[in-house]
Amino acid sequence: MSTQIDKERIEEALGLIWDLHEGGHKQCGRFVINSDDPDNDLLLDVLKADGLVRIENNVIDFTPKGEAMARALIRRQRLAERLFSDVFEMPDDAVLDDACKMEHILSEELTESVCTFLGHPPTCPHGKPIPRGECCKKFRVDVAPVVTRLTDFEVGAAGRITFIVSSDPSRINRLNGLGIAAGSIIRHIQKTPSCIIQIDETTVAIDPDIAKEIYIKKVTR
Ligand SMILES: [Zn+2]
Ligand SMILES: [Zn+2]
Repeated sequence: MSTQIDKERIEEALGLIWDLHEGGHKQCGRFVINSDDPDNDLLLDVLKADGLVRIENNVIDFTPKGEAMARALIRRQRLAERLFSDVFEMPDDAVLDDACKMEHILSEELTESVCTFLGHPPTCPHGKPIPRGECCKKFRVDVAPVVTRLTDFEVGAAGRITFIVSSDPSRINRLNGLGIAAGSIIRHIQKTPSCIIQIDETTVAIDPDIAKEIYIKKVTR
């Protein structure tokens, strides 16, 4: 990899080219208008010199190497978006900035775990396709997400609480006091009119707002 430009600028450029290609735009001019880079000429030269793109008649195309890098990058970014939006419930417009930072820190291994955890989602919260990974191929038949909210959890099934996401820490303390905490095994007894779970020998009714904040992974026993 060239040392003239740091990796983050290269990745930023590859991500942008991918986005533009999705929209059917391959012209260099289009890239330059949309790029925030301080030196687009140098950037494009470096991409070419590193064998990541080919540029002919002002049209940018990925080389197989560049395409593979961009695909992995976009996958990390869009999965990070899903994570922020689905699990942390951040608004979609706030999601993108943080996801952009995440894409540089998610390792390949962590990406697979996040993808599996989210149930191999096909699209990002903005509706753009998430490039498939090895994990998605392996679990193609397994369409059910690994972790679901208690509100979406199958009635009658037993599950382990993976985590509880609440903006109100006192709520988590109250739940913990009832034995409802990350790691606890519960059984979903009833969904409507109110959510009822069984934990050990006790049944507990849970407010739907709170049930939404509890994430469960199904266990078989
Ligand atoms: Zn998106
Ligand atoms: Zn996957």
